[in-house]
Amino acid sequence: MPDYYDVLGVSKNATQEEIKKAYKKLAKTYHPDLNKDNPQAEEKFKEVNNAYKVLSNQKARTQYDQFGHDTFEQAQKGGGGQGFNQGFGGFEDIFSDIFGGGFRQQRRGADLQAEFTITLQEAYRGTEKELELTKNDPCSDCNGTGAHKGEMKTCGECGGQGRVLSQQRTPFGVFQTQTTCRACQGQGRIPKKACDTCRGQGSVRKNKTIKVSIPAGVESGQRIRVQGEGEAGPAGTPPGDLYLYVTVRTHDLFERKGDDLFCDIPISIPQAVFGDDVKIPTLEKSAVLEIPPGTHSHTRFKLSGFGMPHLSGRGKGNLYVRVKVQTPKKLSKEQQAALKQFADASGESVKPQKGFFEKLKDAF
Ligand SMILES: [Zn+2]
Ligand SMILES: [Zn+2]
Repeated sequence: MPDYYDVLGVSKNATQEEIKKAYKKLAKTYHPDLNKDNPQAEEKFKEVNNAYKVLSNQKARTQYDQFGHDTFEQAQKGGGGQGFNQGFGGFEDIFSDIFGGGFRQQRRGADLQAEFTITLQEAYRGTEKELELTKNDPCSDCNGTGAHKGEMKTCGECGGQGRVLSQQRTPFGVFQTQTTCRACQGQGRIPKKACDTCRGQGSVRKNKTIKVSIPAGVESGQRIRVQGEGEAGPAGTPPGDLYLYVTVRTHDLFERKGDDLFCDIPISIPQAVFGDDVKIPTLEKSAVLEIPPGTHSHTRFKLSGFGMPHLSGRGKGNLYVRVKVQTPKKLSKEQQAALKQFADASGESVKPQKGFFEKLKDAF
């Protein structure tokens, strides 16, 4: 599936205005009423609408950017759409609109990557992690501008346009191209005097502790984008982003598949025969499993809603408990006598696979 930005044909940095404009144009092009002979148009129309719905909503867009296309779509499907937006408020609150809207994003700092591991319990509850990074961070003395006291002046090279025109002669004629002004990195403004602290670089190398909220329900291999915590860009340009790759440690008791959890619990022969209420450990509180009389070994029971929380923030997966009947290895004299008595009282019927062997004989 194409990325929503590709669907609308806009850049990742597109403003709301640009997104709206692109949407209007495409919606007109693919409107089913205007494309009666083109069955693909309707599909395209839906795609365009869906992309617009997400990208026009700042909150949804932030989440989309952070989690990437596939994860976002999965979560939307799994959680019934709307829920995703309400699921994890933590990110936007901390990192939203750090740069405001007015940036001319000609250049930016490099993206950074980091990995970290959390436990299954942390993935269950959602957690906050502190990461220590050594990176180029905007210089605090000049606010990343590279200018002494932050004082700027209009760039002389481009006259404040941030772009310069250049002509290229080719066998096909003269081409005029627009390129980003090198003197001001496309910002249109340059420092009056270089900042002493960063020597006009706009950034300094430092250790930084970054707090990241990990949403409940996160899975191994998922990526979390922390906007603006990559390397600082050249003076006056925005920093890159930090991408965090999550690994969720395997658990001793629970195996995870998607949002469902699986575990085995041992039960005794009398419990299997007579039935029992058994306390089952879960990641939150314990649950009680009602084992009915006459339960076979390896029977699987479902405890609804005791699995992992959906990333959408609504609902949880299930916990599947498989009971394993334990055959005792050592029996006391009394136990042996009791079991012998049971076998005698049962007669032939104590052989559980009688029917099975007869069927086998018939087959040859
Ligand atoms: Zn310039
Ligand atoms: Zn500085």
